[in-house]
Amino acid sequence: MFLTHLSCPRCGAEHDSEALTNLCSCGSPLLARYDLDAVRAAVTPASLAGRSADLWRYRELLPVRDNTHRVTLGEGWTPLWSADRFGAAIGLDRLLVKDEGLVPTGSFKARGAAVGVSRARELGARHVAMPTNGNAGAAWATYAARGGLRSTIAMPLGAPMITRNEVIAAGGELILVDGLIGDAGKLIAEVVASSAGDVFDAGTLREPYRLEGKKTMGYEICEQLGWRVPDVIIYPTGGGVGLIGIHKALGELRELGWIGDKVPRLVAVQSTGCAPIVRAFEAGERRVSPWPDARTVAFGITVPAPLGDELILDALADTGGTAIAVDDAEILADLRAFGAAEGLLLCPEGAACLTAARLLRSSGWLASTDEVVVLNTGAGIKYPETVGSAGA
Ligand SMILES: *Cc1c(COP(=O)(O)O)cnc(C)c1O
Ligand SMILES: [Zn+2]
Repeated sequence: MFLTHLSCPRCGAEHDSEALTNLCSCGSPLLARYDLDAVRAAVTPASLAGRSADLWRYRELLPVRDNTHRVTLGEGWTPLWSADRFGAAIGLDRLLVKDEGLVPTGSFKARGAAVGVSRARELGARHVAMPTNGNAGAAWATYAARGGLRSTIAMPLGAPMITRNEVIAAGGELILVDGLIGDAGKLIAEVVASSAGDVFDAGTLREPYRLEGKKTMGYEICEQLGWRVPDVIIYPTGGGVGLIGIHKALGELRELGWIGDKVPRLVAVQSTGCAPIVRAFEAGERRVSPWPDARTVAFGITVPAPLGDELILDALADTGGTAIAVDDAEILADLRAFGAAEGLLLCPEGAACLTAARLLRSSGWLASTDEVVVLNTGAGIKYPETVGSAGA
């Protein structure tokens, strides 16, 4: 294993990566750091080619020391489809959609859960807890069960019903909250505080390894394009873990010398019903202020005050990217239009990214020749009511 330490992107403090760790003492999330010179000496892009078709093909860039702690259900290496008909309809010659709906538990949250649960288990955790908008809790309860750990999951009453049932089916302890993800977070903080160290807080960006699982989407995009980057990557941003992870992955691949120096512009997509990152980006601010009365059909991105705001905004600034808020009605219309044109049932969060692509093309921010990769972060079949309401 090539993991060396955890570093704080805010205050620069370094932390031991062999102990179960949450935030830096300054309050910032921590990032896992690797000995990339040693990785470069140990593995080449060509040597990855014959490896397993899952995210563990990048094991040298992942934090699990001992394979016996690897908790897996076959996550990762999802297809990157071209979407030529929808692309032509919105004026993009090279539109690609990475379909994370095929990941176990039906969302890309399983990437974070696989790596996060594996590492927590390796470092001695026996019980994980977290607030969630649904998919993360479903994935973590599932992978906790697979790894023999207990789980306590708190989610809003409004979260998709299937995600509740997934937690129950995996033997997790489910707490339903009449509120939003921040209210669920307060409950989990109490559970963790009163557990005398028995319950590990695995909330979004509160431990460093969920991010490591999600960053593999960035590695895959580059590998699937033949070790080069697209012009633009569009991501539905709630807690922002996937966006921060893709940005981190691109930085690591550049440092390894595997992709050259070109940087794709990263786009954070939110809903007009909850757009704290868009507001901060447009105002040129470093931190978000909590979004009041957050509400959108794209439930996975209903995060009024993301803990990783600075890291998200840095990723946008660093890559010349942007942030854009889209309307629920347009999300649902594009979900239908995309399904009819391409035969893939998107999740509403993924559909939001296609609305963003359409709007950014009409504003001229995207050129017709830009190669654009959109993340469809989950399976449309997890949202039967939403998809129904997209009907005529
Ligand atoms: C959680 C979630 C998101 C947002 O992911 P972040 O990485 O936390 O921003 C997007 N889409 C779906 C389907 C999700 O479950
Ligand atoms: Zn710090």
